[in-house]
Amino acid sequence: MATVLRAIQADITTLGVDAIVNAANESLLGGGGVDGAIHRAAGRELLAECRQLGGCKTGDAKLTNGYQLPAAFVIHTVGPVWHGGQHKEAELLASCYRRVLEIAAAHAITSVAFPSISTGVYGYPIEAAAQIAVSTVTNNLQQCPALQEVIFCCFSDSDLAIYQHVLSKSGL
Ligand code: ADP
Repeated sequence: MATVLRAIQADITTLGVDAIVNAANESLLGGGGVDGAIHRAAGRELLAECRQLGGCKTGDAKLTNGYQLPAAFVIHTVGPVWHGGQHKEAELLASCYRRVLEIAAAHAITSVAFPSISTGVYGYPIEAAAQIAVSTVTNNLQQCPALQEVIFCCFSDSDLAIYQHVLSKSGL
């Protein structure tokens, strides 16, 4: 069955998918933005599990349980900080999406929701980031036979409009 890709506007912590993705930092010990929201909603046990993981490199991802979240799992990934575009930002952002899908495949995850990684405090331009998100997911779906649904969870109206435009340009 083909995987459905769609963009919605929501608080990612409310979604009842198998896994939500966290735009974390290398410490994996919490932060602001979506990271703070996920830790608040999941409860202290999430931080306790994260402490065991020894951090995460930029472009990599690691899985934990979801604890008090409706989602069973959280896949934490660390996006690049935008430094103008000449510091492997695109490559590292694509790597985040690829690594999340690898982990999703390893755990036979059927539905996953991504926030717009790196486009908050980390400053990645949203149009370019949305294109990388959609194209990297599309190009790596074949490695995730169990995956039925990928949600791009946007926090603002304007981000949602950008993701919807990118999806429609890709014929999705
Ligand atoms: P980064 O440090 O990777 O830039 P941020 O958390 O600052 O991460 O921002 C990433 C994206 O997550 C931004 O588009 C921000 O608006 C969005 N965001 C913040 N809180 C939430 C939430 N509760 N649900 C979904 N998206 C959120």
